[in-house]
Amino acid sequence: MQTTIENNLSQLHQQIATITQQYGRPVDAVKLLAVSKGQSIEKIQTAYAAGQHAFGENYVQEAVTKMQALADLAIEWHYIGHIQSNKTAQIASHFAWVHTVCSIPIAQRLHKQHPATLPPLNVCIQVNVSGEASKDGIAPANVLDYAQAISALPRLRLRGLMTIPSLTHDEALQRQQFHILRLAYEALQQAGIPVDTLSMGMSADFAAAIAEGATLLRIGTGIFGSRS
Ligand SMILES: *Cc1c(COP(=O)(O)O)cnc(C)c1O
Repeated sequence: MQTTIENNLSQLHQQIATITQQYGRPVDAVKLLAVSKGQSIEKIQTAYAAGQHAFGENYVQEAVTKMQALADLAIEWHYIGHIQSNKTAQIASHFAWVHTVCSIPIAQRLHKQHPATLPPLNVCIQVNVSGEASKDGIAPANVLDYAQAISALPRLRLRGLMTIPSLTHDEALQRQQFHILRLAYEALQQAGIPVDTLSMGMSADFAAAIAEGATLLRIGTGIFGSRS
């Protein structure tokens, strides 16, 4: 019998493929990050057995506990939470990706603390596309300056941009916000900065994100159900 998680994943892959093709994008253009914050180790094992190998976590201690329990699996761990400067050493040594870089001092700490024996740490710059004061992220107008500064740090590999838009069920408004990130991303490419990742789209807005060019969706409840 298929588990709920297996079912959710296969339905999600079908939906992603359908929407991706609907917008004339290559079938493999959009990847899936399973957001496992607040979800059990058993659920991660189930998703992994169903072929999902990239997982996103928001809290360092919770993530490190899970990493230790799941050390026998070849999981690619992504940090997608707010970055406190006293946590950068742990983030830099345990994760393969960090999506939420929005300060140069934090980028410099991650660079300094990322072990030289590991491949460069993949990073995305978090951009605030809604202008809400409560949200992390740099202003879209500052993306090129930050990208140039981060590209100069050899232990970091700038992969692209990430955003968390304001919560709305209005698909036109969702697309408007994602479009801002896409324009900033295209501006980087035009400036010759080799980015390949547009990290946007969650359970409630991933269709709009795909329409606007997302390459990496971050989905939690749509895979695992509600969080504890
Ligand atoms: C929790 C979280 C997600 C996943 O949200 P769902 O609505 O559960 O899909 C995605 N991105 C970030 C940054 C998150 O914190």
